[in-house]
Amino acid sequence: MFLKKLLEQRHTLSFRLTLWYGGIFIISSFAVFLIFYLSVASVIYGRIDDELSEDMEEFASYLASKGFEEFIREVRDEIDSEDPEKVFFRAMRSDGSEIISSDMSLWGNPGIGKKTLKHMSSGETAFETIFIPLKSYNTRIVHKKIGQDIIMQTGILLEKETRLMSVFKKVFGISMITTLFIAALAGWFMAKQALSGVEQVTQTAQKISEGAIDQRVSVKSGGNEIEQLANTFNHMLDRIQKLITEMREMTDNIAHDLKSPLTRIRGAAEVILTSNNSQNEYEHMAASIIEECDNLVEMINTMLDISELETGVRKIEFRKIKITDIVQDICELFEPLAEKKNQLLLCNASEQLMIFGHVKMIQQMVSNLLDNAVKYTPDSGVITVSLHKNGKNKVVLSISDTGPGIFEEDLPHIFERFYRADRSRSKAGSGLGLSMVKLITTVHSGDIIVQNLSDSGSKFTVMLPDLSFSS
Ligand code: ADP
Repeated sequence: MFLKKLLEQRHTLSFRLTLWYGGIFIISSFAVFLIFYLSVASVIYGRIDDELSEDMEEFASYLASKGFEEFIREVRDEIDSEDPEKVFFRAMRSDGSEIISSDMSLWGNPGIGKKTLKHMSSGETAFETIFIPLKSYNTRIVHKKIGQDIIMQTGILLEKETRLMSVFKKVFGISMITTLFIAALAGWFMAKQALSGVEQVTQTAQKISEGAIDQRVSVKSGGNEIEQLANTFNHMLDRIQKLITEMREMTDNIAHDLKSPLTRIRGAAEVILTSNNSQNEYEHMAASIIEECDNLVEMINTMLDISELETGVRKIEFRKIKITDIVQDICELFEPLAEKKNQLLLCNASEQLMIFGHVKMIQQMVSNLLDNAVKYTPDSGVITVSLHKNGKNKVVLSISDTGPGIFEEDLPHIFERFYRADRSRSKAGSGLGLSMVKLITTVHSGDIIVQNLSDSGSKFTVMLPDLSFSS
C-alpha cells in the first residue's frame, strides 16, 4: 500500500526535490565522515608508527653503543616485558636466519616482502600492515636494518585501534541512517511547503475545468514566486471569466437582435404566400423585407469590422487627413435628417486641423455619433458639433445634444457591444454604433468620454492626437 503510494508520487516535483535534497545531504555527510575517519585513522596509526620507530632507534643505538651482547639482552628484556600475543620482536641476519625472537608460532612467522626489503636496503624504516590468519585483527610491522648484518622486526597487534575504528564506523552507520531519515522527512516537508501554492493552483484549475469558473486560489500577501504565480493565475481567471460573460451576453444579444428582424421577414413572407393582396402591397412588403435584410447585413458587417479591428486582422493604412473637411461633410450629410425633425444642427468646425488617420473610419465615427444625436434628440432639439485643438496637442471633437441624456447606470456600459439602454429600445438600432466609435478612437490612439449636460442632453467628446503629435 505504502509502496504503491510512493510509486504514484515518483513523478511529482516534491518527490524529486526530496530525493535531490536527501541525496546531496547524504553525499556531503559521507564526505565529511570520510575526511574525519581518515584524519582520526592517520593520527592513531601515526602514533603507533612513531612508537615503533622509537623502539627501532633505541635498538640501533644499543647495538652501536653497547655491543651485540647487550643488544641481545635488551631485546630479550623487551620480549619478556610484552604480551607475546600482542607484540613480537625478532632480530635476523640478512639471509633470514633468526638471532633472537618472541614465540613466532603465535604469529605464523611473517616473512619480509620485496618492497620492504627495497626500503630497508636504502636505510629507511619500512612499515607494513598485514593480516595474519591466526589473529583476529591486523598487525602493524616495522622493519629496520640496525647493524651491518642485523635486521630488526617488530610487530604490534592493532586490536584497540581496530576496535575503536569499528565503533566509529558503527556510530557513523547509525548516524547516516538517522540522518537520511531526517533529511528525507525535512526535504519532503520543505518541498511540500514550497509547492503547496502550486498544488492549490492545480486544485483550482481542476475545479474550474469541472465548471466552477468563479473559483480562485487564496493568496497570502507575501509576494514570493508561488504567490505571484497564484496572483497572475487569479488575474488570468478574472479576465477569462469576464470574456466568457461578455461572450455569453453577446450571443444573447445577437440572438435577440437577429430574432426580431427574422420574425418580421418571416411574417411578411407568410402574408405574401397566404393572402390575396394587390401588386402594390406585394411590392411594399418585398421592399420592407429588403430593408430588414439590409439592416441585418449591415449589423453583421459591423460585427465583422469590430472583430477584425479588435483582433488586428485588418491592416489599417494611416495617412495625413484633414479632419475639419470630414466633419463639415458629415454635418452637411446629416443636415436634411435634422431638418426633417426640425432640429438645429450647428457645426463649429472652421479651424483647419489635421490628424494621422483613416478617412473612412473617421467618417464612420463622426456619422455614428451624429446619427445617435439626431436619433435620440426629440423634434426641435439642438445638436452642436465642435472641432478644435486644445493645448495638449490634441484634436477635440465634441457632439452635444438637447436629448434625454443617458441614465447614470447606463453610462459605464454604452460603449459595450450590443448595449442599448432600455428606453432606447423603441428606436431602431443594434447597440454596435458606440462600440465601433470606441474602437476607432482606440486604433487612432485617442479616447472618448461621455457626459450628461446639466440642462438636458448628453455630450460625447473624442480626443485624437493631432498631426504634430503623431508624426
Ligand atoms: P444604438 O444602435 O442603440 O444607437 P449605440 O451603440 O450607438 O447603439 O448606442 C448605445 C446606447 O447608447 C443607445 O442604445 C442609447 O441608449 C445610448 N445613446 C447613444 N447616444 C445617445 C445620445 N446621443 N443620447 C442618448 N442616448 C444615447
